[in-house]
Amino acid sequence: AVRATRLVRRFGGRAVLKELDLTLAPGEFIALLGRSGSGKSTLLRAVAGLDHRVAGSGELVVPERVSLSFQDSRLLPWLRLLDNVILGMRDRQARQRGSAALAEVGLEGREKAWPHELSGGEQQRAALARALVRDPELLLADEPFGALDALTRIRMHGLLRELYERHRPAVLLVTHDVDEAVELADRVLVLEDGRISVDLAVDLPTPRTRRDPRFEEYRETL
Ligand code: ATP
Ligand code: MG
Repeated sequence: AVRATRLVRRFGGRAVLKELDLTLAPGEFIALLGRSGSGKSTLLRAVAGLDHRVAGSGELVVPERVSLSFQDSRLLPWLRLLDNVILGMRDRQARQRGSAALAEVGLEGREKAWPHELSGGEQQRAALARALVRDPELLLADEPFGALDALTRIRMHGLLRELYERHRPAVLLVTHDVDEAVELADRVLVLEDGRISVDLAVDLPTPRTRRDPRFEEYRETL
């Protein structure tokens, strides 16, 4: 679903991405870990096509339908929930599909709510609905649960994994949380010094257990 080779991004003179290579197979769920400032968001923006100053001698191939979801869910405060979810969609069935997507994330009947009337977790659910209603081949999520309390996060993990199983987009999820990465993803990458320094397959039985010992050594460094 994604093939990026030798991506380079400089800010001023400083290279944040240094000939980075990244490949995602269709339907693959990847978590991307890395210290603050390592370039995770920079990489996600590049893959989303939002950064035209990514250079290098490499290439970047991404699918046509890409959805991007941010840490703060970025619902537009002046639009009701359903209008937020289907913003920009031209499809004649958009309203129906938007309502169905809201129902899928547990927000049935809330179409007319204003964003400020929703809790943080509900806003994040709405953001997931907005991403999924576009039927993405690739879902990019930049610390989507960063602002949520621990219990809500765990619930959102279950929901995200469930939605993923049903829709099967390729997913690139940025997180600081090793447990979250291991619990959700099938492959865990670490971004370090401008490149992918660690690339491990997660092969966990269902239900997925926390604390895979192989990842303990990275816990301290992230
Ligand atoms: P965090 O985990 O804190 O979100 P991150 O891994 O997402 O960090 P990025 O936001 O990608 O990190 O930033 C990587 C580096 O690039 C940082 O040192 C940052 O200061 C720098 N950077 C990012 N965007 C810009 C910009 N628009 N102008 C200048 N420097 C930038
Ligand atoms: Mg970031």
